[in-house]
Amino acid sequence: MRRRSFIRHSSLGLGAISLMNKNFLTSIFTDDPWKMKMLRNDVGIFTEKGGTIAYLLSKKGIVVVDAEFPEQAQHLIGELKKQSDKPFELLMNTHHHGDHSSGNIAFKGIVKEVAAHSNSLSNQQKVAVKQKTEDKQLYPGTTYGESWSYKIDKEHIRSYYFGPAHTDGDSIIHFQHANIAHMGDLMFNRRWAFIDRSAGASVKNWITVLDKALSTFDNETLFVFGHAFDPEKVTGSKEDLKAMQDYLSKMIVFVDGQIKAGKSKDDVLKEKSIPGVTEWQGDGIERGLQATYEELTDAPRPS
Ligand SMILES: [Zn+2]
Ligand SMILES: [Zn+2]
Repeated sequence: MRRRSFIRHSSLGLGAISLMNKNFLTSIFTDDPWKMKMLRNDVGIFTEKGGTIAYLLSKKGIVVVDAEFPEQAQHLIGELKKQSDKPFELLMNTHHHGDHSSGNIAFKGIVKEVAAHSNSLSNQQKVAVKQKTEDKQLYPGTTYGESWSYKIDKEHIRSYYFGPAHTDGDSIIHFQHANIAHMGDLMFNRRWAFIDRSAGASVKNWITVLDKALSTFDNETLFVFGHAFDPEKVTGSKEDLKAMQDYLSKMIVFVDGQIKAGKSKDDVLKEKSIPGVTEWQGDGIERGLQATYEELTDAPRPS
């Protein structure tokens, strides 16, 4: 993307270019449109557009968690093939949203197994039928309920389901040996969260889900986040999970107070900040406010 934007910008006169700061020029010439970074052991992350992807390059084969969009998944597959001649053994989805699962299709005929929570599969099917994109899906052939385990080489991968939160099908996928847990969209690090009530989300239970994550993993666990306001901060620690809980809790307290004060949903959606929430930013504060308002007033879920 950056290369394309450079081509567009290069029609600017030399004067304009000389005004560009040095960092900007450096980033144009040195950055690929996507980024890959090894974290620990054989586990790394890929980011381009959509939810952060994690991958394992083991001696026995490759495992990928989430797939962004088809174009991004092609980039990832191309890069992983340069780094390993081992087969793609497993693809997992943290949940069904298109920025995590629409890239699955790029793995068709390449990966041996696709796994996700059973609600992630049914949500993916429901959306594909609605959007008439069924021919563009690669669905999980393996589904599970509470948890699921998979062993490859030295790595033991375990998937946990703690109930509805961002959707009703969010898994946390833990690489036990590397001690890296992919949180999917249970973590919007310092960025206003999307809360998908049409897919069974629950703001209140999201806090409980994060509690369960905090008690399941230890202080050495490195967490991978679906999204972050700062693209450099798609990984973090338990402190970040606690900060996310704090934001969700304060949003519930705030919206609850507004409801009790007789405010309408439209009034609440006009709010530009949440008292006590100082670190969360970006677009879309209203998405969380709306979902919280609807949950607290028992509004019917959108279809
Ligand atoms: Zn996402
Ligand atoms: Zn999502």
